[in-house]
Amino acid sequence: MSAQLTVACTSDFSGLVRGKAFNSDDLDKKITAGIGWTPTNVQITCFDTISESPYGALGDLVLRPDMDTLVKSDLPDGTQMSFLLGDILELDGQPWECCTRGILRAAIADLERASDLELRVSFEHEFMLPGGRGTRGFTLDGFLERQVFGEALFRALAGAGIQPDGFFREFGPDQMEITVPPQPALRAADEAVMLREITRATAASMGDRATFSPLWSPDVVGNGVHIHVSLWRKDGSPVTWSESGQDGLSEVASSFVAGMLAHMPAAVALTAPSVLSFQRLVPHRWSAAFNNLGAQDREAGVRICPVTAQDKATRARQFNVEFRAADATASPYLALAALVAAGTLGIRDRLVAPAASSEDLSLLSASDLAKRGIQRLPTDLGSALDAFLADEALSSTFPTRMPDIYVAHKRGEIAHVSGMSEEQCFAAYAATY
Ligand code: GLU
Ligand code: MG
Repeated sequence: MSAQLTVACTSDFSGLVRGKAFNSDDLDKKITAGIGWTPTNVQITCFDTISESPYGALGDLVLRPDMDTLVKSDLPDGTQMSFLLGDILELDGQPWECCTRGILRAAIADLERASDLELRVSFEHEFMLPGGRGTRGFTLDGFLERQVFGEALFRALAGAGIQPDGFFREFGPDQMEITVPPQPALRAADEAVMLREITRATAASMGDRATFSPLWSPDVVGNGVHIHVSLWRKDGSPVTWSESGQDGLSEVASSFVAGMLAHMPAAVALTAPSVLSFQRLVPHRWSAAFNNLGAQDREAGVRICPVTAQDKATRARQFNVEFRAADATASPYLALAALVAAGTLGIRDRLVAPAASSEDLSLLSASDLAKRGIQRLPTDLGSALDAFLADEALSSTFPTRMPDIYVAHKRGEIAHVSGMSEEQCFAAYAATY
């Protein structure tokens, strides 16, 4: 008798995907009843240490898988990976305070309350497949080395309903990039969770190891996650672009972007939340080191992306901005929740985005930066966590106890890494993400 197993999963504070498997024949039953989950699991760090937990050994929760996220991906070694993502609920069915997917759902609902608008989002991922033969960035040769992998990956992603629109040999050593079309916010975050798992599984089934760690070594370019967002009315019409707006931003998009910028020093605690993340968020790594808006600047915290269409209707549909201070150590749900919450605050507070900068901000003095309202992003995880707790406007958009629990989780991660040499730290993150 052969049994097929499916895993009900959550993407948790560590940004890892954890879950429990069940017989695939029981899928309908599990969708209705869910599977048992333990509150303190949320304090298991990416290194499998357990941070301080308010729950201790107490409590029970239900992880209820969502049928819309069913993945059945065929892998190159002939196996199939089958999993679903879900929401963690209290036993009475209420959303649980530390469920990352529930937190994103709430942030999306709040944006809708504030503006009646919806987001379309796309997560662009960079990752490395170490052990290549030293091909060069963007080369055909570099692509050909990974063509078999790329085609296997596209087939596996089809099993998740994901149809990527690009795959190429990025600039860093052994670095690849994969891009997907925009989706409604929750689906985009679901896809980001799935894509990382499917990419790692595809590589593993070919005897390779894919890593999304934000930095592979101190000397090379990092693996970023660039989060593209645009705003839409419920009738499907785009509202991010305005011909007469500063840098092409409509009034509401300007406010949303201004909110993302204002709260970015705090938001990075959720969007780039590892000890290594902050070695990527430095000038001249083509990541993001400041909370600035840039037009054609690949070092901007938020970049206005170029549009190729000449006619206005298509321009309006293509126009989007890209948040660059994120990486794959973040749960996509929390990263996007932070951006949505920050943007919503911008709309509620009627903020106006500054004109886009197009210069090397690392050359400006602290006082010149301050005059222009630009801040250097936190330079280590501890400072980012402090900034998150200090930004009450942002942190209070999360469930009441969540910010403190999250910060305790991350402080446990910092404590674990603090005993490591630099080399051990890079290796530990590369092996985990
Ligand atoms: N690898 C860079 C990063 O860490 C991004 C390079 C690019 O613009 O695609 O974000
Ligand atoms: Mg790139």
